[in-house]
Amino acid sequence: MIKQKEEFKEIQEEEFKKITLVLTNKCMLSCDYCEAQKNNFSMSENVLEKTFSLLADFYKEKPIDIMFFGGEPLMEFPLIRKAISICRKLDNIRRYNFSIFTNGVLLNKIDLKFLSRNNVELIISIDGNRETMAIHRKRGAINPYNNIINALPKLKLLGIKFEAEVTVTPHTVNKLYDNYLHLVDLGFESITLAPVCCIKSDRFQWSKSALRIFKKELNKISKIYLKNTKYRRLGNLLIYRNQLKTGLNFIELNDWRMSVNVDGNIYIGDSFLVLDESQRKKLKIGDIRKIKSSKILEKLYKKYIENKKNFLSHIRKNPFVTKYSNQATLKILNEQMAQLDKLIKQNRIRELRRSIQTRKIKF
Ligand code: SF4
Repeated sequence: MIKQKEEFKEIQEEEFKKITLVLTNKCMLSCDYCEAQKNNFSMSENVLEKTFSLLADFYKEKPIDIMFFGGEPLMEFPLIRKAISICRKLDNIRRYNFSIFTNGVLLNKIDLKFLSRNNVELIISIDGNRETMAIHRKRGAINPYNNIINALPKLKLLGIKFEAEVTVTPHTVNKLYDNYLHLVDLGFESITLAPVCCIKSDRFQWSKSALRIFKKELNKISKIYLKNTKYRRLGNLLIYRNQLKTGLNFIELNDWRMSVNVDGNIYIGDSFLVLDESQRKKLKIGDIRKIKSSKILEKLYKKYIENKKNFLSHIRKNPFVTKYSNQATLKILNEQMAQLDKLIKQNRIRELRRSIQTRKIKF
């Protein structure tokens, strides 16, 4: 029993060292599906320093995963340098795993060797080929496709790991399979699909026919999973499985992450990013500027674990979230994706092939 308890504690701690740092609200793009709060506000060096000095003390010796987020975090590249140099000064840099979530526009303008030297990984937002990328960006506006394509050989040469995050919308879904293959050809070994679901505009509502196409395209993609020996790294369906557990379909809670926002406010998960100010207040668990010791971070986490139900109920009460969570078609799609994910996780490939052949798993 004691052993079980210890193991449970271990899992919680392991899960909690994933930190998202929202470095800036600035972004040079204006994708029409964007939900991010955009302004000229960036994290101050004080907040950054305070965050890292607390983290250096937090669960000493355990690995910490830091994701730099925005806006577009590469617009604040000096802050990324600063963060890493603070880490070097205060702590054993080897226990840190850094990644940057980027739209790719500045990949050719920054010091890639610095990223390589510090083992910084990139999560690149790329929806497919050039034409697909143009669909959600105004005519004449920057299309990051060429910037990304030009940078890929350099990333490979320098051994920088990179993944793709694909936003799927009712307007791009019909080319999802082709775009997926395109990204595989470009060398992306991990491709996360993020269907839009919380955007109020009618333009982004999923009609039944768009969902049918989505299912068809996913079916084709699942076959690549089975053929490719690296299937585990092709795609990331975890989101769907986790959503099933919470009943919040298509709302990624990411609640194993702690986020520090540009202003120093601390949240569990990153769903606060799509919520309005009043909802955010309910999800806030602290303020990095006011915390004096890393022990408080630990306490905050425990408080969250104990009040997880309460935390989820706040999110469920949000009419915006409720509306999208309850769409029957989305729920069905999630369940199907979760089944596929579960089978892949359990390495039951033969059974997976049989299930698809006998159409037990329908798309
Ligand atoms: S790149 Fe990201 S933050 Fe910038 S406009 Fe597009 S979706 Fe929004």
